[in-house]
Amino acid sequence: MAQARIIDGKAFAEGLRDRIGTAVGQLTADHGLVPGLAVVLVGEGPASAVYVRNKARQTAEAGMASFKEVLPASTGQAELLDLIARLNADPKVHGILVQLPLPPQIDPEAVLDAIDPAKDVDGFHVINAGRLATGGSGARAPLVPCTPLGCQMLLRDALGDLTGLHAVVVGRSNIVGKPMAQLLLQDNCTVTVAHSRTRDLPAVCRGADILIAAVGRPEMVEGDWVKPGATVIDVGINRIDKPEGGTRLVGDVAFEAAAAVAGAITPVPGGVGPMTIACLLRNSVTAACRQAGLPAPEM
Ligand code: NDP
Repeated sequence: MAQARIIDGKAFAEGLRDRIGTAVGQLTADHGLVPGLAVVLVGEGPASAVYVRNKARQTAEAGMASFKEVLPASTGQAELLDLIARLNADPKVHGILVQLPLPPQIDPEAVLDAIDPAKDVDGFHVINAGRLATGGSGARAPLVPCTPLGCQMLLRDALGDLTGLHAVVVGRSNIVGKPMAQLLLQDNCTVTVAHSRTRDLPAVCRGADILIAAVGRPEMVEGDWVKPGATVIDVGINRIDKPEGGTRLVGDVAFEAAAAVAGAITPVPGGVGPMTIACLLRNSVTAACRQAGLPAPEM
């Protein structure tokens, strides 16, 4: 029986998209600024194609301009870099996202390096990662990776001030774990980053007031890894087979068992997932404002 409060990321993301839509309407009315997001897809992997379609729809719904560039799976690196250069130079495009993974003939780091950091709405460019790590603000404020940014918004909404809380982040990837740890540090948490070589991971997790699971292993975090009353953010998205046939989505946390112990928890689906695209739109508006020399609206 679940006791924890459910952190409803789907509802929060809907509210955020509404606020973004209002901000975009205001920017367009007051300054003639229509934030534009270009999404680049190389090859038509079905999962990526669905994701890209969702992004395009939500971008248009927020009143923003959506540009979709689909290249064949055989595209060479030079051709992709040419496209990025064109998008970097296009004043209607304020944000550029290259859908990963890329086909094997293309080096993803070379592609990410080529994106203008001011248009890097995924926040993966080393300039943005460096600015996040060094606490850059004002003109040096980074664009922050969307998934950890969404987790931070949910945590602030659920808990208010995070100062002094012990946060354990399980996972140290560049797109989730590491930037998540940086954001929690900025919010004055005491941060532990755990990974596949961590000793006695259950005991480390049991010390967490905030437990973030970003691992990619279905239901790995068990109920007795959770400190009573802790806040659990489950970033994992894993598709598993159902005994009766078909598949279902689960997170990296054993939800029912963890919810019986935690104070608050995100479900999968409907937790962190919807926040990622909403934060992509938010980053695109922020990027557009910075490029136009305008203050970014509160969203
Ligand atoms: P990566 O595979 O890049 O990183 C996984 C991390 O988990 C690594 O740091 C790895 O450690 C660690 N890890 C793996 N196995 C264990 C273990 N047994 N014990 C402890 N740590 C372990 O994954 P991502 O960060 O890209 O994604 C993580 C999860 O989040 C995935 O399920 C992914 O689908 C999901 N995701 C969800 C998003 C959303 O929108 N909600 C967006 C992005 C990702 P090591 O470094 O030592 O190998």
